[in-house]
Amino acid sequence: MTTTTKNQKHIAIIGGGPGGLTLALILQQHGIPTVIYEREMADKSHERGGSLDIHEDSGQQALKEAGLYEAFQKVARYEGEDFRLFDKTGKCFIDEVADEDAPGGRPEIDRGVLCELLLSKLDSAIIRYGYKLNKAVSLANGMTELHFENGFVDTAHLVVGADGAFSRVRPLLSDTDVSYSGLTMFELNVVDAANRHPDLAAFNRRGKVFALDDHKGILGQLNGDGRIKVYASLKVDREWLDTIGIGSENPQDAKAKLLELFQDWDESLKNYIRYAAEVVLPRRIYMLPIGFKWNRNPGVTLIGDAAHVMSPFAGEGVNLAMQDAMELALAIIRHDDQAKAIEEYEEKMYEYASEKARESNDNLTLCFSDDAAPNLTELMNSYHEQYNEA
Ligand SMILES: Cc1cc2nc3c(=O)[nH]c(=O)nc-3n(C[C@H](O)[C@H](O)[C@H](O)COP(=O)(O)OP(=O)(O)OC[C@H]3O[C@@H](n4cnc5c(N)ncnc54)[C@H](O)[C@@H]3O)c2cc1C
Repeated sequence: MTTTTKNQKHIAIIGGGPGGLTLALILQQHGIPTVIYEREMADKSHERGGSLDIHEDSGQQALKEAGLYEAFQKVARYEGEDFRLFDKTGKCFIDEVADEDAPGGRPEIDRGVLCELLLSKLDSAIIRYGYKLNKAVSLANGMTELHFENGFVDTAHLVVGADGAFSRVRPLLSDTDVSYSGLTMFELNVVDAANRHPDLAAFNRRGKVFALDDHKGILGQLNGDGRIKVYASLKVDREWLDTIGIGSENPQDAKAKLLELFQDWDESLKNYIRYAAEVVLPRRIYMLPIGFKWNRNPGVTLIGDAAHVMSPFAGEGVNLAMQDAMELALAIIRHDDQAKAIEEYEEKMYEYASEKARESNDNLTLCFSDDAAPNLTELMNSYHEQYNEA
């Protein structure tokens, strides 16, 4: 067990993603020590996922609490808010260009750059790489024993599961597991798009492109390192991926099969697949039930995807992870009584997270419904009208 002084609680955070890092950093700012156990041998966030939009009322607030807001603004890409929507014929339904003189509240940052920013301020002794949690066990004295794959065992007063969708901490609190959302995505990368594929770079412009039709989608987004991250997405049964023969082992063949699946789509859209580098990552998208709650345990809680993983169609995942981290940290700082802090955090989080989970699920349904492009256009227009009236 890690040494703590008499009144000091030992707080163990499982997972060094955006949620876990933000929590440790805000607590560090207030002199509260923690330890993060991360399964990877080093920070792998550059290799995982693409550009994320950081919202004013959640992710940006957390960065303010972590003392990183100014540093964030220097690297945030406000122009990344450009958005265009097409159907499969290449007909454009929405063409939004971000106004750089009046930047919006959702600038973009690459996941790797965000984690680097958080790590730059975090005491490096806090994070232990190469510690994969295998099992967590509740003890009679209210503490929790943590068993790691490398044989290490720790005992903590408070364990925070920030270990993502397939959390090993969650089973301490609930029997509920994630379920398949109905969506399967293939992640592709068009590297150095501006130089290697100027036609696609010009088509994609500075931000995001969605093409939606026939219960399928091609989603492209320019990242800060010049790559276009692409998700070829399909609404299919969970088992479909096992039968279709598109895996990561043979990328050329996988790309050819993907092109077949989108064969009647406009050439400008198929270029997102055609030009992609030789790595194809298939992913099934999982979710927890909307409004998921667990049995309260004053020595264990969850933040981020471990608490409420949802499809990426509200663009909220990372924002919620950081908001949870902030709310939990502030509750711990406010209350000497740990049980009170956990209760306050969880009650508040259940409310805002369930609202976003519902929104994400509604957007997922709409984006893969019949007439998705006109339907999404109608929805976005109604948001804009409400926003302008407010
Ligand atoms: C395809 C896709 C696109 C997305 N796009 C967006 C978007 O545009 N906007 C947005 O806001 N969100 C998006 N998201 C969601 C976003 O990436 C997540 O919601 C966010 O990363 C959650 O942060 P987290 O810290 O809770 O968990 P994670 O980022 O999953 O981090 C969990 C960490 O825990 C570690 N870990 C896992 N298991 C263990 C273990 N047993 N022991 C120790 N460590 C462990 C992992 O290695 C990882 O470092 C997207 C997700 C996907 C899949």
